[in-house]
Amino acid sequence: MVTAVPANRTAVPAGLLAAAAAWHIGPAATWLPGVRAALGPGLDGRGDRSHVALTFDDGPDPVTTPRFLRALDALSVRATFFVLGGRLARHPALGRLIVAEGHELAVHGWRHDRPWCPRPLRDARELARAVDLVGEAAGRPPLWYRPPYGILTGGRWAAARAAGLRTVLWSAWGRDWTAGATPWSVYAEVTRTLRGGATVLLHDSDVVSAPGAWRAALGAVPELVAECRRRGLAVGRLDEHGLVPAPQRPNTDGTNIRFSRTLEA
Ligand SMILES: [Zn+2]
Repeated sequence: MVTAVPANRTAVPAGLLAAAAAWHIGPAATWLPGVRAALGPGLDGRGDRSHVALTFDDGPDPVTTPRFLRALDALSVRATFFVLGGRLARHPALGRLIVAEGHELAVHGWRHDRPWCPRPLRDARELARAVDLVGEAAGRPPLWYRPPYGILTGGRWAAARAAGLRTVLWSAWGRDWTAGATPWSVYAEVTRTLRGGATVLLHDSDVVSAPGAWRAALGAVPELVAECRRRGLAVGRLDEHGLVPAPQRPNTDGTNIRFSRTLEA
């Protein structure tokens, strides 16, 4: 005779499942501009109103990133590059070059994946690995984290906090990753929402964009910078943008957790 097992002896309570799901994917709504803005100026990178932070995601790329470095140097602009740990591991000299040129390195994760399932332990492990590598290349611990696709899950959020990073998304983007993007379309999209204090998202690599899409971003940069300057806005790195980094958590021996981790790497 088969005896039915009471559901409440084996099944995970529905409320617990719902809570776990909400913890995992709930913060992902931050991808939506309205939600992001409502959660506060910090998350969408709104900073000093006389300043615009210029940020590039998805590099470093040995073919495309140096072109952005040359363009920025010609404009005397410094920016923040949210790099992928996996790509930095393959091109460490390029990471050091970005820093040597006066730019800031920040963390975009280890790989560029979509967080379909909760993997908080993997999130924490991979983010710590990326932080170590970025810290090595930069000579100092990174300050900022931007999750791939801007999708912030509970696991990613917790991993960033544990790594001493502050999560910063963006307040203006160029939709430069799309196949039909042109320098003009990128310029028009960014300036549609550009304000003093904005954080602008562009990409210096097409590894997760339409092939060749980086050309649209690269072509838009000079005119974007010119437009900011016409408005009296300085353009620069996130660490010059008036944002407050995450509090540094001391180790039990009193040293700083981010510094000590970098030194151990
Ligand atoms: Zn990305």
